[in-house]
Amino acid sequence: MIVRAIGSYYSVRTAEGETFQCRARGRLKKDGISPAVGDRVEFTVHSGTEGVLETVAERDTYLARPPVANVDQVVIVCAPQNPPLSLQLLDRLLVLAENRNLCALICLNKDDLPHDKEEEYLHTLYGRAGYKLLVTSAKLGRGISELQRELCDRVSVLAGPSGVGKSSLLNRIQPGLRLRTGEISEKLKRGKHTTRHVELLSLDCGGLVADTPGFSQLDLTDVKREDLPLCFPEFVQIAHHCRFAGCMHKSEPDCAVKEAVASGEVAKSRYEHYLVFLEEVTAQERSY
Ligand code: GDP
Ligand code: ZN
Repeated sequence: MIVRAIGSYYSVRTAEGETFQCRARGRLKKDGISPAVGDRVEFTVHSGTEGVLETVAERDTYLARPPVANVDQVVIVCAPQNPPLSLQLLDRLLVLAENRNLCALICLNKDDLPHDKEEEYLHTLYGRAGYKLLVTSAKLGRGISELQRELCDRVSVLAGPSGVGKSSLLNRIQPGLRLRTGEISEKLKRGKHTTRHVELLSLDCGGLVADTPGFSQLDLTDVKREDLPLCFPEFVQIAHHCRFAGCMHKSEPDCAVKEAVASGEVAKSRYEHYLVFLEEVTAQERSY
């Protein structure tokens, strides 16, 4: 598996735990294949620990910005304050994850800061939609073992606004990683001018986690209009009760989703954000 990509240099880790430095065979580029961290590859050893990538296995999932292949889950980190909790941003990140078929987990960090109802609110709001919520404090070390357990034996990417504590959480999970606080968010700001560098950090428990936050771009460009309702799991559960197949849950009559919103079964904020996103993807499709 490619565990590090710097420009066109790749570090490949074998099942035996050896690491080889590889360049990609020119043919790969000709075939339009751009290897990414997380890709399972075949390579030939040239000398010592150097090799050439020959083939890239088909990807289960692909996250484009930053480029990471075969991600199993996205941990969406938020905080009750500093920065203030934005449910619309949370829903946007969940849509981006669902659209790429990635499992999403919500992590409410900074549990040590005063918060009235956020935790309970998130539990009911997102528990109903089927999302797991973890409550952590990187500062106090609270909830860290629970988070660590979720990261074992899979490839994860952390996402969420700058300042919520993503690097602090990773440092807590494995102090040896020594990520400088603020480092992973700095990478985003530096943008295009630096060589693209993405690395999968190995946790002692066997999990891999990207050192760069996922979804550096928050627009819904890749989301097709008809796919948007599918990105809300709690809508999917009841949509078969809508009168029309392919109901967009907007102005159609006898819409089960709208009824569920009215009865309080589906959270109003989730539905409101759905409508915001629907406007966005509709405008996008018109502009093509
Ligand atoms: P990132 O941008 O998401 O990687 O966030 P950082 O890990 O850089 O943290 C941003 C700021 O929040 C830093 O000043 C951290 O010390 C602070 N911070 C991180 N986790 C916690 C926490 O659980 N509680 C409190 N009170 N502050 C935290
Ligand atoms: Zn409907």
